[in-house]
Amino acid sequence: MAAQEAVEHKYVYGFSEGNKELKGLLGGKGANLAEMTNLGLPVPPGFTITTEACKAYLATGQEPDGLAGQIEAYLESLERGMGRRLGDPGDPLLVSVRSGAKFSMPGMMETVLNVGLNDRSVVGLSAQAGGNDRFAWDSYRRLIQMFGKTVCEVPGEEFEHALDETKRAKGTQNDLDLDADDLRGLVGAYKKIFAKHTGREFPQAPREQLDLAIRAVFESWNAERAVLYRRQERIPADLGTAVNVVAMVFGNLGPDSGTGVAFTRDPGSGAQGIYGDYLANAQGEDVVAGIRNTVPLQELEQLDKKSYDELLGIMARLEEHYRDLCDIEFTIERGKLWMLQTRVGKRTAAAAFVIAGQLIDEGLIDLDEALHRVNGAQLAQLMFPRFQLEHDFEPVARGIGASPGAASGTVVFTSARAVELAGEGKSVILVRRETNPDDLNGMIAAQGILTSRGGKTSHAAVVARGMGKTCVSGADAIEVNVPAKRFTVGGRTVTEGDVVSIDGTTGKVYLGEVPVMPSEVVQYFEGSLDPEHIDNALVRAVHRIMTHADTRRRLAVRTNADTAADAARARRFGAQGIGLCRTEHMFLGDRRELVERLILARSDTDRQSSLAALLPLQRDDFVKIFREMDGLPVTVRLIDPPLHEFLPPLEQLAVNVAVAQERGEDVAKEEALLAAVRRMHEENPMLGLRGVRLGLVIPGLFAMQVRAIAEAAVRVTREGADARPEIMVPLVGAVQELETVRAEAEKIIAEVVGDSGVEVLIGTMIEVPRAALTAGQIAEAAQFFSFGTNDLTQMGWGFSRDDVEGAFFWRYLELGIFGISPFESIDRDGVGRLVRIAAEEGRAARPDLKLGVCGEHGGDPESVHFFHEVGLDYVSCSPFRVPVARLEAGRAVVETDGSDSR
Ligand code: PEP
Ligand code: MG
Repeated sequence: MAAQEAVEHKYVYGFSEGNKELKGLLGGKGANLAEMTNLGLPVPPGFTITTEACKAYLATGQEPDGLAGQIEAYLESLERGMGRRLGDPGDPLLVSVRSGAKFSMPGMMETVLNVGLNDRSVVGLSAQAGGNDRFAWDSYRRLIQMFGKTVCEVPGEEFEHALDETKRAKGTQNDLDLDADDLRGLVGAYKKIFAKHTGREFPQAPREQLDLAIRAVFESWNAERAVLYRRQERIPADLGTAVNVVAMVFGNLGPDSGTGVAFTRDPGSGAQGIYGDYLANAQGEDVVAGIRNTVPLQELEQLDKKSYDELLGIMARLEEHYRDLCDIEFTIERGKLWMLQTRVGKRTAAAAFVIAGQLIDEGLIDLDEALHRVNGAQLAQLMFPRFQLEHDFEPVARGIGASPGAASGTVVFTSARAVELAGEGKSVILVRRETNPDDLNGMIAAQGILTSRGGKTSHAAVVARGMGKTCVSGADAIEVNVPAKRFTVGGRTVTEGDVVSIDGTTGKVYLGEVPVMPSEVVQYFEGSLDPEHIDNALVRAVHRIMTHADTRRRLAVRTNADTAADAARARRFGAQGIGLCRTEHMFLGDRRELVERLILARSDTDRQSSLAALLPLQRDDFVKIFREMDGLPVTVRLIDPPLHEFLPPLEQLAVNVAVAQERGEDVAKEEALLAAVRRMHEENPMLGLRGVRLGLVIPGLFAMQVRAIAEAAVRVTREGADARPEIMVPLVGAVQELETVRAEAEKIIAEVVGDSGVEVLIGTMIEVPRAALTAGQIAEAAQFFSFGTNDLTQMGWGFSRDDVEGAFFWRYLELGIFGISPFESIDRDGVGRLVRIAAEEGRAARPDLKLGVCGEHGGDPESVHFFHEVGLDYVSCSPFRVPVARLEAGRAVVETDGSDSR
């Protein structure tokens, strides 16, 4: 048997051994330093200790075998390269030790600079710096301070205090006034502080300094602030950080030295040009600390033209190489430029689109790549009005950002008042504890909605998102008192007529008016900005990328719309049909009385007469919608909510009856209503008499709706348009339910449609887990399925969709049980599995079964990718999310199936 030689794991990479693709192993900083080194750019020599070494250390509390030897070897080669040795008393090499994880976590982990200085090499450093004693002692005191604080947990204030003392004794407030002797004295004081807190002298052995600093960087991965940051940014906890050990270069050696940061384009707007700041005679941390003011990078041209020109050349080269906006950090040491860092730079949503557009023009990327580089969340951000100058205002409360955007307006507490003031041309914010279907008119009239209860799928949230209206829900610091027309928050009282501003993205609530700007991107989707003829780089880029997404995507995008106005807007936004028209809204407002009559009907005749009165009203609603959606499919869902939701609340009725009785008034009607409400009361209405169950229990109800749909379709077709109705039955759990409804519907349709040529499809929602699991049977009776992922999530998890988000999801998020609410983004493993099973089994039973989704997830970027993968035919979402879904459906193709258009 051949002798097995133990192969030592490689934990250290020299910069010339890595490249930008190795971010997982070398961290972002290390991978990019390697990339720049390989490009031949002036990077100080160094090496990277891998994230694997960090993970091994964190798992065992010990450096893994082999690491120490590899560090030694790379250190030696670094020393050779620089012609200096770490700790050499005559001509010392100093190194920086910096963290660098796969995903940037700015300022969250540790850095130690000037490693290698001790009581002897400080003298050598001074000689290196041309006899600059001040510089050498300043570097040494910075090492003790940084090392003490980050490696040995010495309280930072003690060092600050000693520095202040030295300045006070000198009679100055400026660090720069301290001379070499002052700083030498400060080093003595710092060493005492170090010894007092650690029980040992400041380590003089450079290699010990290095090893302890590396260890501290490893450990900083689990520092509290880093853990918190990762949770917030959804960065996995098990990646670990790499550690970069780099030869120090100094920007604080005199006026011909300095340090700066720069972007290759404006990360705010995407505009081309050089953006950056420079600080002469300074190190990076001085820039961060804001001790002195930086100057615009352009001024470097006057100070040091050679370095400036070289820097510009490097920036152009980096852009071309990364084919993207890069940000960089650099230092100039006595006229010699050094690149300390680069990475693909963060940018605003607008800049992301603008830059992608520019890079296509410059031939650096193709359209698929451009599509890959933007995302639906950015597009959504661009579609909402936003506050100018928000930072000038202090929020008084914070709720859930339930529907993005920014709105300012006069506070009102009732729907009626909202309508009234809006009629006078005022901008209003409707404030409620929570909203219900009766608030609809007020919500339409309002600029924004603020509630003190409810989560992201509360009534207020869902309806507001549907309308593209700003909404903050669940701002529980607010005490709403509707009868008194006021709310209180943090000891302040806001009454009707006062102005508030709400930010539906951040959930922040402000008192007073914060100025709002409309979205140009919406103006473009609305058709009022022509991308070919306006000088607006953002709108042109959005147009170009959206057009490409449309050519690439396989998923169709429909909209959830209950009114002709919403349907029309969604169509302008690119909707290819209606995937969900909820008919319950058509039972409110002036029809409430008829609905009450229907509910209270004592005889068949009574019931039939109220249904007959509702029929033409429903038919007119559908006529308007079919006209708007001429040529496109319209899925109309039969009534879903429990009927008692259409009656006034029990408490209110009971009070009315009692008061009226007291006055001796005729209360027969109220009493009947009260009795009905009591009779129909359900402990769990979401699991009660709703959806298809209503159709099976209340004779004639579904029949009326089916007739209204068919008659409307026939009328619109006779007018010359193309109506394509699809009737959808909600809450089906068993095929027999659907078969029963279907048999009755088919009869009515056949009778109404006659030879008009109208074709009406009949399908079902899949929103009860049992339906998903028996989809093969249900498909026998359905021409289409539409996944109601709101209810499927509610029933799949057993989470009440109206309560849980505000009640305890924060704890679930904190514990990492899920990273995002499953009501917001589909839970792939559980609820998603139900969707997958139903899609597969449904299609197996009926190959031409049409599959769509109409729950809130239809407009969520992550979920759209999932629905693409599962092979659905379409997603349906609120009008404002239609462009987002179009974009993400295109991105899903480019990302899942790979690009083939290059
Ligand atoms: C759903 O449950 O996902 C759905 C679309 O229906 P609703 O939200 O009206 O219950
Ligand atoms: Mg539902």
